Amino acid sequence: MESSTSDYDVIVIGAGVMGSSTAYQASKRGLKTLLLEQFDFLHHRGSSHGESRNIRAAYPEHYYSSLVIKSYHLWEQAQAQVGFNVYYKAHHFDMGPSNDSTILSIVENFRENNLPYQLLSHEQVAEKFSGRVNIPDDWVGLSTEYGGIIKATKAVTMFQTLARNHGAVLKDNVEVTDIKNDGAGVVVLTANGEEFRGKKCVVTVGAWVNKLLKKVSGVELPIQPLETLLCYWRIKEGHEGKLTISGDFPTFSSFGSVLLYGSPSLEFPGLIKVAVHDGNPCDPDKRPWGSGVMMNEMKEWIEERFGGLVDSSEPVVKLSCMYSMTPDEDFVIDFLGGEFGEKVVLGAGFSGHGFKMAPVIGKILTELVVDGETDEVDLKHFRIGRFNKTSKQ
Ligand SMILES: Cc1cc2nc3c(=O)[nH]c(=O)nc-3n(C[C@H](O)[C@H](O)[C@H](O)COP(=O)(O)OP(=O)(O)OC[C@H]3O[C@@H](n4cnc5c(N)ncnc54)[C@H](O)[C@@H]3O)c2cc1C
Repeated sequence: MESSTSDYDVIVIGAGVMGSSTAYQASKRGLKTLLLEQFDFLHHRGSSHGESRNIRAAYPEHYYSSLVIKSYHLWEQAQAQVGFNVYYKAHHFDMGPSNDSTILSIVENFRENNLPYQLLSHEQVAEKFSGRVNIPDDWVGLSTEYGGIIKATKAVTMFQTLARNHGAVLKDNVEVTDIKNDGAGVVVLTANGEEFRGKKCVVTVGAWVNKLLKKVSGVELPIQPLETLLCYWRIKEGHEGKLTISGDFPTFSSFGSVLLYGSPSLEFPGLIKVAVHDGNPCDPDKRPWGSGVMMNEMKEWIEERFGGLVDSSEPVVKLSCMYSMTPDEDFVIDFLGGEFGEKVVLGAGFSGHGFKMAPVIGKILTELVVDGETDEVDLKHFRIGRFNKTSKQ
């Protein structure tokens, strides 16, 4: 069995967007950083690949809006440093029944925190979008300036490039099988027999979190992998320019009986992204690859909301991806605890909405593992201990 010893300040396990952002933040602080990935870098088997993710500050909870607003600055800083763009600015538009509790809570959050927004009746929505979006009489629209698109795989590449530029060591096709506490630090064991020694460790392994944690600490968290589909639909001939990011069309979310989201045409010319925020439970190592999610509901929604501008018969591009869902859809950001105390930090359960905040999450994970604390957010929302309680702390 091959064996090597290495000394790192921080070993980051899992090179999706969270691990790659963490490796960048750690190496930027001058720490000797190692990033390990079980598959090829930029593979398509996890949660961070593909053409795009939405960014929006329209959350009911202020702690998320605040993390998103911090992330806008960090996305801009990182892309300026690397020399290419991953963030494309757009407004964001929410729509749903006027009594929908999520929309009402977003409005309350924006009002309380003096963030600008426009609450629109269905007539005002028709006027604002010149008929491109139609909502029922008893729905409202909520328009904010905080939207946009992040190019997903390109953003992961950006963080990995920046991490390498700051001296981090990046290794792919290295599956971590266990982590041991060796008193002074941690020893990370791998399937190919290599061992890596570090003072501290950050675990960002996405949907594989329970597979690794069961081995490391015997702990299993209530994080459920779901397989979901990102769908792109054809804009009908002659209307392509009406739903583009350059034509001022926003990113959007739709509430009510089904939660849908989408973004203006950017990554595939002539296509618009519309998908459902849901999925089917899966084993990350035995994926069905492409199980459809509420396809009929999506088709109906497209037909009704876009007033015939988009062909709702079938999506023309479908990309399979995984969510890691917690019961409350809040993230897990915490020390692993137990025999590892504060030596191992966990970032997991990003519940299908973490990408936009990856820059600040990488910063938080780095601060936790290095400084033992962070000022960026109150971690009570993200602690592992909340799962033992009956309601949110
Ligand atoms: C279809 C879809 C649409 C989404 N849309 C949005 C959106 O619009 N806006 C938004 O903010 N978020 C969105 N998200 C959510 C966002 O993409 C995820 O929250 C984020 O990508 C999670 O990243 P991660 O690094 O935690 O997981 P991953 O990307 O899965 O990374 C984990 C990595 O760890 C590696 N790994 C696992 N086990 C090991 C091991 N033992 N050893 C070494 N490596 C290991 C894996 O191979 C993987 O590369 C969406 C997600 C999906 C699937």
